[in-house]
Amino acid sequence: MLPLQTQTAINCVIMTYLTIPIAANDIQQALLQIKKSSAAGAEMLELRVDYLEKLNVGLVEKLISIAQGHIPVVVTCRDKKQGGVFNYPLKLRVEVLVAAINAGVDFVDLEYDNFFVPEVRQEIKKALSNNKETKLILSAHNFKTKFADIKKLYREIKKAFPSAIPKLVYTANHVNDCFDAFDLLHNTRGERIVFCMGGAGLISRVVAKKLGSMVTFASIDEGTATAPGQLTVEEFKKLYRYDSINNKTALYGVIADPVAHSLSPHVHNACFAKAGLNEVYLPLLEQGGMDEFNRFFDNILARPWLRFKGFSVTIPHKENALVYVKRKKGFVEPLAEKIGAANTVLIKAGGKLAAYNTDYRSALDSVISAMGIKKTGLRDMPVAVIGAGGVSRAIVAGLSDAGAKITIYNRTVKRAENLAGEFGCEFAGLERLKNLHAKLVINCTSIGMHPKVNATPLPAEYLIKDMVVFDTVYNPIETLLLKQAKRAGTKTIDGVSMFVNQAAAQFKLFTGKNADANLMRRVICGHLTR
Ligand code: NAP
Repeated sequence: MLPLQTQTAINCVIMTYLTIPIAANDIQQALLQIKKSSAAGAEMLELRVDYLEKLNVGLVEKLISIAQGHIPVVVTCRDKKQGGVFNYPLKLRVEVLVAAINAGVDFVDLEYDNFFVPEVRQEIKKALSNNKETKLILSAHNFKTKFADIKKLYREIKKAFPSAIPKLVYTANHVNDCFDAFDLLHNTRGERIVFCMGGAGLISRVVAKKLGSMVTFASIDEGTATAPGQLTVEEFKKLYRYDSINNKTALYGVIADPVAHSLSPHVHNACFAKAGLNEVYLPLLEQGGMDEFNRFFDNILARPWLRFKGFSVTIPHKENALVYVKRKKGFVEPLAEKIGAANTVLIKAGGKLAAYNTDYRSALDSVISAMGIKKTGLRDMPVAVIGAGGVSRAIVAGLSDAGAKITIYNRTVKRAENLAGEFGCEFAGLERLKNLHAKLVINCTSIGMHPKVNATPLPAEYLIKDMVVFDTVYNPIETLLLKQAKRAGTKTIDGVSMFVNQAAAQFKLFTGKNADANLMRRVICGHLTR
């Protein structure tokens, strides 16, 4: 087998190594982590020897002899100023790196700042010139924010030691901060390591593979992460389809704040995988208001090479999405315009935008299929909608379009009155629910949602046998309202069916293909019942 450097040079395509840091205090712990990493599918090991207690050259040589095998090894003895664990003196850290070079490891990682200390530079260069198989990574980290000028820093590193692999890692405080990293990867060639830390930088760890960063780091499990925002190997491989990502992979994502608990990446990635599509769906933490949203979309549209094709949009950006697409003179689905919110945005050929709202359609589809009727069957049907927020608005728009006779009940009566006024409905306060005369009752409030699962918007005594009760809350799958409705003998519709229908409608818009709705439901229920 050819040495690593020769392979990458011949192929001219930089492989991204899914690298697991071995962050152990002693050899026994390290051995265990190495075994687990190999089993998890690590493609490279980073021996973070600054985690070792009682660090000495002999200990590092022992660790290297254990780790060296089928996958490349990088040895790092991080300076405390750049995230190192123990405050080992520079002299010892350099001795350790020299020993690693002499042991023939594939890579050693030295802080770029320390490369300017003349003795350090001299020692490392001397060791490298005697051991051609080891490559030097010169790294710079910014744990607080973006680098002032990442391109300049990259050029400086290459100038200081042309054969070095620059590693530039910084904290993204906003998803918009990731674009510096993407641009650098896009505009440079050869071996370099570039990505962002922090929750907002999470996507850069996945996109790093698409754009050819030589390394992206993963932890064995959540407990062993060595940097903020680091994903586990399982998340990389099972959730974000790591093994199938390449430079042609199209990107999708959910724009939300918060986004960490969104089930959409699980649902869409499972369906992309099932359909054999070269696409991956990411959680896009979009903090801030309209300005930040605009900047994000401007950034995306200015970089067609990222191949972002579509977005799910949720709280708090549905209105922003509609305004943005209108401003860019994109297509807006008429009912999305009427609702005043878009939950799906597509980027079509030539950067043309299109905005849709799949919320109302999904709710109508859930009702129609559960009641065994056509859309025309909703005409003149008496419907009680409880709640007057965003979901209620989408459902009321859809139902009024279908000709249903709607009464909106809400805690804040004024809000119900405003919504009713827009769509020509009746309205009332929640106390009027006791006089309910409706064929279909829809809960669009968050009452009954986890963790307050013992609450219901509609007391059991108001439930009548020939009603159909639909709860948009999907966590828990069977809310108290649905349990009591079942006991009263009514037909029930759960929030998961609406979730699945809206995700399936988005999938169709994204790909032109029908989603596997059963798979979507299994994925959602699998997560909700964990
Ligand atoms: P929203 O805009 O914040 O509206 C919340 C609504 O719930 C308002 O009408 C609010 O009344 C009412 N409410 C909240 N707490 C209440 C309480 N303690 N007592 C009485 N009324 C209360 O939220 P949204 O975006 O419409 O979402 C509502 C629910 O829909 C979510 O909680 C979620 O479970 C569900 N949902 C389901 C799906 C799905 O696919 N199945 C998708 C999205 C959302 P006031 O106007 O008086 O504040």
